Amino acid sequence: MLDQLPELIDPVVFAERQSNIKGYLGLQRLERLGTLLFDKTGELKVDLQFYKEGKVPVIEGRIEGHITLACQSCMEALDWSVDKSVKIGMVQTIEQADRLTDEFEPLMVSDEKMSLPGLIEDEVLISLPDFPRHAHKCLHYEPAVKLAEPKINEHEPDNPFAVLATLKNTGDQ
Ligand SMILES: [Zn+2]
Repeated sequence: MLDQLPELIDPVVFAERQSNIKGYLGLQRLERLGTLLFDKTGELKVDLQFYKEGKVPVIEGRIEGHITLACQSCMEALDWSVDKSVKIGMVQTIEQADRLTDEFEPLMVSDEKMSLPGLIEDEVLISLPDFPRHAHKCLHYEPAVKLAEPKINEHEPDNPFAVLATLKNTGDQ
């Protein structure tokens, strides 16, 4: 099993060694992504090749998996396929970033070590829409009504017209 990906990596060393990282990353290790998930169980399949493009260490590969997001309309489960190709150049100066060919997405790195799950999480987050939601109209039943009900109940006792209406009814009888 290749389930344990390293936490911290040194991209320069990895690039010099032309290392390949293959494995599965558990979703429970990704806190920021976790806030968007309806179901935090599951994992992402990661396959990343490190090498050097000129002097710049780069990562090329793919992140795949099935995750369950919370639909931003109805807050119910929304199945989502992640299939993100990765092509990152790790630069330390603006000049290096400018020299990098367009196919690579420049990533500023300051320390020699970086969080691998953090990098994978960033890539997945970039690939998600701002407001993931069901393709069909999921909102017009249930949630709107459910949310509105407690508010109405809350206001009823304080509503002076409701009290007047009650008094009127009593008077008529
Ligand atoms: Zn929905």
